[in-house]
Amino acid sequence: MSKITKRSWAEPYKIKMVEPLRKTTRQYREDAIRKAGYNTFLLYSEDVYIDLLTDSGTSAMSDYQWAGMMMGDEAYSGSKNFYHLEENVQKYYGYKYLIPTHQGRGAEHLISRILIKQGDYVPGNMYFTTTRLHQELSGGQFVDIIIDEAHDPTSLLPFKGDIDLNKLENLIAKVGADKIPYVSVAATVNMAGGQPISMKNMRDVRALCSKHGIKVIMDATRAVENAYFIQCREDGYANKTTAEILREMCSYTDGCTMSGKKDLLVNIGGFLAINDEDIYEEARSLVVVYEGMHTYGGLAGRDMEAMARGIEEAVQDDHIQARVGQVEYLGAQLQEYGVPIVLPVGGHAIYLDAKRFYPHISQDNFPAQTLAAELYIDSGIRSMERGIVSAGRDVKTGKNYYPKLELVRLTIPRRVYTQAHMDVTAESVAEVYEARTRAKGLEMTFEPKYLRFFQARFSPIA
Ligand SMILES: *Cc1c(COP(=O)(O)O)cnc(C)c1O
Repeated sequence: MSKITKRSWAEPYKIKMVEPLRKTTRQYREDAIRKAGYNTFLLYSEDVYIDLLTDSGTSAMSDYQWAGMMMGDEAYSGSKNFYHLEENVQKYYGYKYLIPTHQGRGAEHLISRILIKQGDYVPGNMYFTTTRLHQELSGGQFVDIIIDEAHDPTSLLPFKGDIDLNKLENLIAKVGADKIPYVSVAATVNMAGGQPISMKNMRDVRALCSKHGIKVIMDATRAVENAYFIQCREDGYANKTTAEILREMCSYTDGCTMSGKKDLLVNIGGFLAINDEDIYEEARSLVVVYEGMHTYGGLAGRDMEAMARGIEEAVQDDHIQARVGQVEYLGAQLQEYGVPIVLPVGGHAIYLDAKRFYPHISQDNFPAQTLAAELYIDSGIRSMERGIVSAGRDVKTGKNYYPKLELVRLTIPRRVYTQAHMDVTAESVAEVYEARTRAKGLEMTFEPKYLRFFQARFSPIA
């Protein structure tokens, strides 16, 4: 009988260039995090060993993408790289018109300004920080219509990113369809732990919105990861390619905003893609004001080329399988150590459940912020708070939001770290978990006005 009980996956690439990592002492890190106001965003990246702050713009580009960087057509207008990007967005996402932007929030700014009027409501499957802020700055009010299970870190539903159609119908009945310019559909849902939305749900949302003349705009930043989950989990999709599934998802929407810094394997870039010609015309004139000409949108030609090529690589089944597989590997390690994490494991990150990690620290003393600081001190691994600090305050009342989920995100950059780095990470988290009763929490000593998690400062409770 064969002794082989499993067949592992491996990264579908080999490494051509390396960047050395720097290790520091515990004493050094205690100093560094104090100087950074106990905010991992404010650490010097040189002081970080394994950087799991974000998977945004931190991917390793391929030789094919780097070769494309040398093919940058830096003409002020009509760059050939723009046309290559346009061709690939049309081919892989299926939208008619493309407006490049410097990153995702540039596209969110444009679409929010164009579609939202003062007093409008924008329902969505959980908020994303920059997306909601742009909706609010345009006079809209975000309404969370994600299914309740998304707020429960222990629920094992396969599609926790789904929209609750009853919540959407109730909102339409309450405020009227003319007060809802569009439904903001995220795929996957970052703030819920990278949870996917099902194809069935997207189809149903489309049907309901069509009935009421409401548009559907997708945050497609992580839609390739979402497509992969549909392939793995939804009936009828096992034999479709990720690329085919992505096209179908987009077909139920009117357009998308995109941060190329995630799925698309580039260090900078984004776009707005849309089917409606009038919206396109409006976006084309606005982008000139805020980003640059409509054929570069704040990007160099080489950046657009890298993103055009990144699309081709992002939708490859072996790539996306290894990408999500690495995240799942780390999740399995942590579960073996008994560490409380959000389940099922999402597409881009492991989310530590800080409420269960530190049940003795009240949300006003920032359990997730505390955990991120402790993890850095233990090993130099950098993570990100996704809890009460990130949730910020209600712009109207000035009161703190108290999100149900109080999480620390360990985000895995694409094609950057190895399985051994995942082992080291799991061991450090387990160590911090063992010492959990000694953590006391933090108080905020400086709070910026917008997106406070980036620059807020803290000090330990005495
Ligand atoms: C990163 C991100 C954004 C914003 O994109 P930027 O490129 O950082 O401006 C929007 N939505 C989601 C889901 C994201 O992950």
